[in-house]
Amino acid sequence: MIEIQTWERTSLIEILGLIDEDFVNYRKCSMRIDMPHCDWKCGKENCQNYSARNNKILKITVDSIVQRYEANEYSEAIVIAGLEPFLSMDDLSVLIAAFREKVSDPIIIYTGYNKEEIEKEVGRLKLLYSNIIVKFGRYIPNQEPHYDEVLGIKLASSNQYAERIC
Ligand code: SF4
Repeated sequence: MIEIQTWERTSLIEILGLIDEDFVNYRKCSMRIDMPHCDWKCGKENCQNYSARNNKILKITVDSIVQRYEANEYSEAIVIAGLEPFLSMDDLSVLIAAFREKVSDPIIIYTGYNKEEIEKEVGRLKLLYSNIIVKFGRYIPNQEPHYDEVLGIKLASSNQYAERIC
């Protein structure tokens, strides 16, 4: 049985940062929310986000994030990115549940995991929600960026791709 994440408007989640209008990670202007943990699976020496581990972790209510998104007339999608969102699965679920109560806009999750490593987590999101895209795959340096049709932007490593999971 799939458990529905319980949450309240005042539920606090941990994030590393938030950008109201981001044009880099999806074809549409997006709110970008950065999650605070990673297991450095791509290699600390390769990770361009490694220095972010020293940034202060912020605690913020899910309601305030959703209100901020709704108040912004430009953003049409939500990007949840890294460090590694799937290492904050409870907070990720709460965040998606809170957004889905108010908006049906695309939610894009950037993960460094390969699809087979997070089948259970992806399956759970698939069953509970809709309009979610996941970008899979580790960052491998020194590769030619390639255009990803699903995201409408270029990804850095040839093994990376995005898939609409629901
Ligand atoms: S998943 Fe992202 S933050 Fe983690 S090591 Fe890979 S590139 Fe760095």
